[in-house]
Amino acid sequence: MNPNCARCGKIVYPTEKVNCLDKFWHKACFHCETCKMTLNMKNYKGYEKKPYCNACATRRSLRRTRAKVSA
Ligand SMILES: [Zn+2]
Ligand SMILES: [Zn+2]
Repeated sequence: MNPNCARCGKIVYPTEKVNCLDKFWHKACFHCETCKMTLNMKNYKGYEKKPYCNACATRRSLRRTRAKVSA
């Protein structure tokens, strides 16, 4: 039984599977929530069970402390 992709909901086959943040993703679907940059196991940052690139993860954590900053 193959799992469904956390992003697109379609079946993920072993050749394209990324197992991250307690979910399964297509390699192509494992991209930053904010800027859509393609990520991999080495460079992603998990935040609230979603993948972000380094820059967006940093921006998110800044926004948490300084709520009124607009990008
Ligand atoms: Zn997918
Ligand atoms: Zn990003």
